[in-house]
Amino acid sequence: MQFKEVLGNGELKSRLVRMVDSGRTGHSLMLVERDGCGALPMAMALVQYMMCPERRPGEDSCGVCPVCRRISGMVHPDVHFAFPVNVAGKSGSNRKPLSGNFLEEWRSLYRDNPYFTEADLNAALGLDGKVGAISVAEAREILDSLSLKSYEGRGKFMVVWLPERMNAESANRLLKIVEEPMADTYFIFITHAPERIISTICSRSQLIRLYPAPVQELVPELQARTGLSKQEATVYAHTAGGSLGMALDMAGEASSASFFLPAAEGMLEATVSGDLVGLLEGNDTVVAMGRERQKEFCLYLEGLLRKMMMRRQGLDAISDVLPQEAGAVDRFGPLLPESFFGKAFSAVEEARTMVEANVNAKMVFCHLSNVLFALVNFGKSNKKV
Ligand SMILES: [Zn+2]
Repeated sequence: MQFKEVLGNGELKSRLVRMVDSGRTGHSLMLVERDGCGALPMAMALVQYMMCPERRPGEDSCGVCPVCRRISGMVHPDVHFAFPVNVAGKSGSNRKPLSGNFLEEWRSLYRDNPYFTEADLNAALGLDGKVGAISVAEAREILDSLSLKSYEGRGKFMVVWLPERMNAESANRLLKIVEEPMADTYFIFITHAPERIISTICSRSQLIRLYPAPVQELVPELQARTGLSKQEATVYAHTAGGSLGMALDMAGEASSASFFLPAAEGMLEATVSGDLVGLLEGNDTVVAMGRERQKEFCLYLEGLLRKMMMRRQGLDAISDVLPQEAGAVDRFGPLLPESFFGKAFSAVEEARTMVEANVNAKMVFCHLSNVLFALVNFGKSNKKV
């Protein structure tokens, strides 16, 4: 990653370049950003500038030498990473929860989208709604990897993504080395919540704030990565407040919405109008999607129902209803009984588990339809079932 490839923050880039050129780089830097604003690519551009033997002073790393290429691929032996992981991950059961065991996922995430968000990392690690952590064992690994001799003699770097996910014990383990760094050892912390990091680490670090990229810079990048129209990309860029990572997440969510929304709407329409036959017929569309899509459909349906529940409770600001979903949310939300939601969430979740367990999809969605139908229609005196 070169500085010129990183979105926005032009002034900061020049400041970092001057800092390196004048030899005043601190041994502990704390990059503060809002999720998805590009602190990781910025950190990688900085490391590359510091390490590149062919760098152009005052400008950028060369971007093509073997050192630059290894750093770009996140495979340079002197550049280490620590990030929040969790044993709950899909493949975590047989891998200890240490970043080093998840580097493959980490690198491929970065290759696809260096602006990935914490939610993207959690999804890539299969954390299923859980949050990762940087454990004491991880802190020990960090100290171990920094105690090794530098491979190329151009410094050792430890990039710690989300130090706020360390508990006090792990943070205290790192503190000593942050306070008394070894020569040529650099910590680069990237945080979304500096107030949750122990103050001794913050006060020993040079704080560097990244700003969201301007919309006019974000839009073409978003278009190139998603194929959205300029108008759509502009909406996402604004809604995401200049965070490319968040805008990409929203666009991804929107594209799955346009795929799953018609089926979900059909299901809810038949349910609220007491049309059991129509409801069961509509299942053919879902059954035809195939197993992976069926699981995604369940997640989507659950999310859509959650949005309806939140809007009913006046929590609109955090319900994240997409523009194309507003019609469905406003139409069905008020028609569903209050008691419906909790039981519907469990039923949809159960359906997803059954799809995962290879149960016949026709049976799974027939059962789900019956449950949803009963939740809405049974007990209504004027409806026949
Ligand atoms: Zn280079």
